[in-house]
Amino acid sequence: MGLIVQKFGGSSVADAEKIFNVAGRVTDAYNAGNQVVVVVSAQGDTTDDLIEKANEINPNHSKREMDVLLSVGEQITISLLAMALEKLGYPVISLTGWQVAMHTDRNNMNARIKHIDTQRLQSELDQKKIVIVAGFQGINRYNDITTLGRGGSDTTAVALAAALNADLCEIYTDVDGVYTTDPRIVKNAKKLKDISYDEMLELASLGANVLHNRSVELAKKYNVALEVKSSFEKIEGTKVREVGNVEKMLVRGVTRDNNVARISVVGINDTPGKAYMLFNLMAKYNINVDVILQSIGREGTKDISFTVPRDHVEEALQILNEQIENLEAKEIKHADNVSKVSIVGAGMASNPGVAAKMFEALYEAQINIHMIATSEIKVSVLIDEKNAEKAVAAIHDKFFNN
Ligand code: ASP
Ligand code: MG
Repeated sequence: MGLIVQKFGGSSVADAEKIFNVAGRVTDAYNAGNQVVVVVSAQGDTTDDLIEKANEINPNHSKREMDVLLSVGEQITISLLAMALEKLGYPVISLTGWQVAMHTDRNNMNARIKHIDTQRLQSELDQKKIVIVAGFQGINRYNDITTLGRGGSDTTAVALAAALNADLCEIYTDVDGVYTTDPRIVKNAKKLKDISYDEMLELASLGANVLHNRSVELAKKYNVALEVKSSFEKIEGTKVREVGNVEKMLVRGVTRDNNVARISVVGINDTPGKAYMLFNLMAKYNINVDVILQSIGREGTKDISFTVPRDHVEEALQILNEQIENLEAKEIKHADNVSKVSIVGAGMASNPGVAAKMFEALYEAQINIHMIATSEIKVSVLIDEKNAEKAVAAIHDKFFNN
């Protein structure tokens, strides 16, 4: 017995039958004697459809009005789920972001939660009600509606779990847990029983697409016990928590990210301050730089290559070309058709054998590496995009099928 926050994603509440399926999950937890707070997303493709509708009317809409529109999706789901629970005879109440008092900053369409007043929630729970909360939405200090960024309902759920000091936050979705790699690419990907917050954060930001990044950050910060599980199958999911060496498996996952491009600044004068000038420019324009490689060029020059998100490459090239004389560089080159493939797991830096094993897998698959980056928790390589799936499969095979 305790307090459980359950979150159900858009595909889990897509139609009436699925809403009743969710109601079953909720009442199971309630009947077991728990207090239950439920967070839901908009049904199916509702959010995408709303975005399309907005663009039809005015592609230059303000973010404020967009949030008024987008928050509607979740409001539909909370009422429908509440009606389903009423029909089943349970005490229930639905609450929107402002009714909960989900206070955020003023950053429309990508707002951050600042604090939650739990009074209303607490009093509804004290009356033994199941409380259903609209995910993804809040209000700013002027009582205007805000949303938390795509996929933000996960973050609503974790924030509520933290504010209410819940015993568990269950994230129900259409996959049944977190896998060692994308099961759509690699058939024998394995489901992880446990994963640490840091590893999950890496997997989430490297494109694993299971949890909203900020929800994992929040869970780590407030030590919220998370579990990712299937809405449809009653089987164990993946626990995200501060784990020791539970599975004694160093590498926990293999990911790939196609949203990368490589830029090379060729023939820069080999004098102090050039790298500073270059990356300071990128920072000034808020362009995220990831893998960096400096190599020795000819006759007192050097080359610096680095990666940026592919959707920022045009902007980066324009900035660099404008500054090419100040940088004293000869040429700016770029490549779009690259992918970043990474292995993730705690304790990489102290185990050089892990990187060697990854490179061996790539060598055996005859895949050329353009750049390498390592950190305490991951090893990433930049390779040609056309080899990305083959690389993921080869690396996964090396680490998980021996
Ligand atoms: N409905 C929102 C979206 O589609 C939020 C969410 O699903 O978490 O991004
Ligand atoms: Mg989601």
